[in-house]
Order: sequence, then structure tokens, then C-alpha cells
Amino acid sequence: MLEVSGLSAWYGAAQALFDVSLRVGQGELVVLEGLNGAGKSTLLQSIIGLGPHVSGSVLFQGQSLATLPAHARARLGLGFVPEDRRLFIDLTVRENLLVAARLPASQAHGVTAGSTDQQMEQVFALFPALKPMLKRRALEMSGGEQQMLSMARTLMTSPTMLLLDEPCEGIAPVLVEAIVDALLQLKQQGMAMLIAEQNALLAAHADRVITLVAGQTGAHLTP
Ligand code: ATP
Repeated sequence: MLEVSGLSAWYGAAQALFDVSLRVGQGELVVLEGLNGAGKSTLLQSIIGLGPHVSGSVLFQGQSLATLPAHARARLGLGFVPEDRRLFIDLTVRENLLVAARLPASQAHGVTAGSTDQQMEQVFALFPALKPMLKRRALEMSGGEQQMLSMARTLMTSPTMLLLDEPCEGIAPVLVEAIVDALLQLKQQGMAMLIAEQNALLAAHADRVITLVAGQTGAHLTP
């Protein structure tokens, strides 16, 4: 489904990723571990097309993403939930979800494809805590609730694969459990996922755990 080969990335003259290769198959959960600054965010951003200058190859469902801007990659079915969530904080939960549902991708494909109302019901089945909050503005929500909303909003674009950047970081344990449960339900529904995460709860359910050290995956580390 996703095949990254020989990916290197640079911020100006500073190289942040070195020849990274990985694969994520349909329905697979791959967890990306690594210390702060190891390059996890850079890798996810490079895949979605929001990162720095890159070389190497990224194929999604056999198609090269090299020349495609981020919005075109999203339209192909790649959903990205960034570390900072990027919610519209003055808008309500419902409005945040509807804004995303208007993207063309919502009609196209994916686990949550269908009408907007059906999509909403599907995201509420995954995140029941959001349903009573429909009229609440995002800025009035806790960090964990905002994280759920950010994931729900990305699901409204009907992705077939999710890239998530530290969804459990800094979140109350009870909400971490709810988030991990939702991710495991998505996996059961066939969603492919690449998730940067340090929380061991998620790694325990992963098909593979890849460790990034100073921009390199284990297989490429020099002794
Ligand atoms: P964290 O968990 O702290 O987000 P990370 O594993 O996601 O860490 P990255 O944020 O990808 O790591 O950072 C990888 C390297 O790239 C680090 O050396 C970082 O300083 C550098 N870096 C990240 N973003 C930028 C930027 N916008 N400009 C310059 N250097 C950057």
C-alpha cells in the first residue's frame, strides 16, 4: 500500500533523514519509534508532502507521489493527523467535521466513505465521546478530546491510510485508551496506519515497530 525507498530529507544543508525504507500493507499498523529529534515528524511530513526537500521514492498504491502536492496526496486516500492537530479552534466539533467532509475525497473511497451523515455516525462510533460535544468549540475541549476531533476530522476525508504524529502524547491515560481502541477498530476495518508514537500501549498491537535513530532506521545503522 505504502512503499518508501531510500528516502533522505534535508532542512537546508542539514540532513534529517538518511536512506529510510519501509512498507505498510493494507490493514497493517506500523509504529514508528524514536527519541525527540530522531526524524519521525519529518518522515511523516515527507510522505504526505509537507516536509523539507527530499530524495528517494514514495509509492502509494503503486503510484509515485514525487510530483504531487499534499492536497493531491490526501485526495488519493492518505490521511494525515499532525502533532499540533491544526483544528479550527473557534469552530464547533460539528463544524470542524463538516469542513473536512466537503473535501472532494469524501465522495471517493475508503473505510468511512458515504454520505456526510453516515460518515459522522461512523466517526462517532469510533469516538463516542465526541457525539455529545457537537456544539462545543474546539478551544473548549481538553487535549485528548481535541486529538480525537483531529482524528475524526481526518476520517471525514475518507482516507484508506492514516499517518498519525504522536496521537497519544501528553494525553490523559483514559483518553489514550479510547484513542488506542479507536485505532484498533480502524485496523480491523482494514485501515493501513503508520503512527509515530512512544506509548507502548500502541506498539504492543503493531504488526511492526520501526525505530528511527538520528534519521536512520535500524537496518541502516552503522555499529
Ligand atoms: P519530536 O518527537 O520532537 O517531534 P521527531 O522524531 O519528530 O521529534 P523531527 O521533528 O522530524 O523529529 O526532527 C528531525 C530533525 O530535523 C531534528 O534534528 C530537528 O531539529 C530537525 N528539524 C525538524 N524540523 C525542522 C525545521 N523546520 N527546520 C530545520 N530543522 C528541522
